[in-house]
Amino acid sequence: MNQRLTSQNGAPIADDQNSLTAGARGGVMLQDWQLIEKLAHFNRERIPERVVHAKGSGAYGTFTLTRDLSEFTLADHFRGVGKQTEVFLRFSTVGGESGSADAERDPRGFAVRFYTANGNHDVVGNNTPVFFLRDGIKFPDFIHTQKRNPKTNMKDPEAMWDFWSLNPEALHQVTILMSDRGIPASYRHMNGYGSHTFSFWNEQGERFWVKFHFKTQQGIKNLSNQQADKLKGIDPDHAQRDLYGAIEDGEFPKWSVNVQIMPEADAEKYHLNPFDLTKVWPHKDYPLQEIGVLELNRNPENYFNEVEQAALAPSNLVPGIGASPDKMLQARLFAYADAQRYRIGANYNQLPVNCPHASQANHYQRGGAMAGTGCPFHGRSPDSAGSVNYGPNSQNGPAQQAQYAEPPMDIAGAMARYDKTVEDDYQQAGDLFRLMNAEQQQALFDTIAATLEQASEAVQARMLSHFEQADPAYAEGIRAAIAAA
Ligand code: NDP
Repeated sequence: MNQRLTSQNGAPIADDQNSLTAGARGGVMLQDWQLIEKLAHFNRERIPERVVHAKGSGAYGTFTLTRDLSEFTLADHFRGVGKQTEVFLRFSTVGGESGSADAERDPRGFAVRFYTANGNHDVVGNNTPVFFLRDGIKFPDFIHTQKRNPKTNMKDPEAMWDFWSLNPEALHQVTILMSDRGIPASYRHMNGYGSHTFSFWNEQGERFWVKFHFKTQQGIKNLSNQQADKLKGIDPDHAQRDLYGAIEDGEFPKWSVNVQIMPEADAEKYHLNPFDLTKVWPHKDYPLQEIGVLELNRNPENYFNEVEQAALAPSNLVPGIGASPDKMLQARLFAYADAQRYRIGANYNQLPVNCPHASQANHYQRGGAMAGTGCPFHGRSPDSAGSVNYGPNSQNGPAQQAQYAEPPMDIAGAMARYDKTVEDDYQQAGDLFRLMNAEQQQALFDTIAATLEQASEAVQARMLSHFEQADPAYAEGIRAAIAAA
């Protein structure tokens, strides 16, 4: 038998098809609270879409640890071979709106949440190991160049290349984006990277710098520009369809999880700045160490509730895992949680997808919109435990756990806005270029030329001087491709 249809207050509804009217032809009575409730709720069905990463897909799964990392970290999910931890992963494109096509040339978000016994640990990364910028103060300007021009409301190749030409630190990521890996065939067929340098710390108070790598077990597959252009018209949601369908069919996608680990003191003497987000740590210096496998095996029941309202943040760290001086990470530690408070509200961490599933949240924060929503995994919300709303207290309220204090980190230096051009911007972009075979290099030239030739000559000249410094053959190929376009 069907469940009974009710209004929000649970009252049975007799007729949900006809408004309450004065006579058969109307008008409609203000008294029709049923109609008003439906329309008013409909008007509020959307929350602000993310400024970046608006179009996304998500799924739940399991992380299984295959190598114990107790010597490096206190983190529960990295201790005890065979331990399984529930995960949620949200994939996304970056620049497009929530209805945009999945086959755009764009980095892909790769945001993993581990629901650990000591709280949620989020690794909010991309499918690229580096980023366009090394300082968060440039981020709003950069994103403005990727979105619509405020006057024409169209994407703007001049703005995009103008910004990149004035910020050579972007060259490495631009090279990845314009390469054959710039349009992954699906979310299953790409790698993920934590990208930033994070830290591990252990019981002895030793700290290690760490990078996370998620290597696809489905194999890398990409789309050509032509394939992508066709797909955008036929099926703008192809990556969502692919992920959802694979999981429904029991073809659970998997990534092997790897880390690069650097002892704390190495950072001082390493030949590059290990906290610079525009650079990788070459594998020959710090080899990948496989630590486990991440599998996605459950689709969300409700897209809005669990994917749109999924609110991951790099500030979701757990004992044994910390931040690093990486300037972009420092900016994101603030910005992500702040964006979630704006999008969803102060109590976004009480929603089922966001609350800690394997750890009970207990704190003295009270009130705010939607307080007391509660985490279904624990049956009560963190703010409903008795009347005590301050700490310390003598009423048996939640108590500090001193054993989880992060070891102190030495920081030195005079306060200033340091010029970032002291870093090398060209070596690793060139390394990547030289790693490509002739066919991949030609595809790179053609892809860059297709939009760079739409920019002004001054911008083209500035960009070509950057390509030249990465590798003379890189600039030469683009020059020829622009001439042929
Ligand atoms: P390695 O030869 O040890 O590794 C090269 C890496 O490049 C591999 O991880 C490979 O991924 C990846 N790769 C190949 N083609 C592309 C592409 N078009 N876009 C992005 N990644 C690609 O070299 P190094 O560690 O010395 O690094 C050399 C260059 O490789 C770097 O400058 C960087 O651009 C790129 N790279 C390095 C990574 C690192 O963490 N060291 C990670 C990813 C890229 P796969 O094994 O999946 O084929």
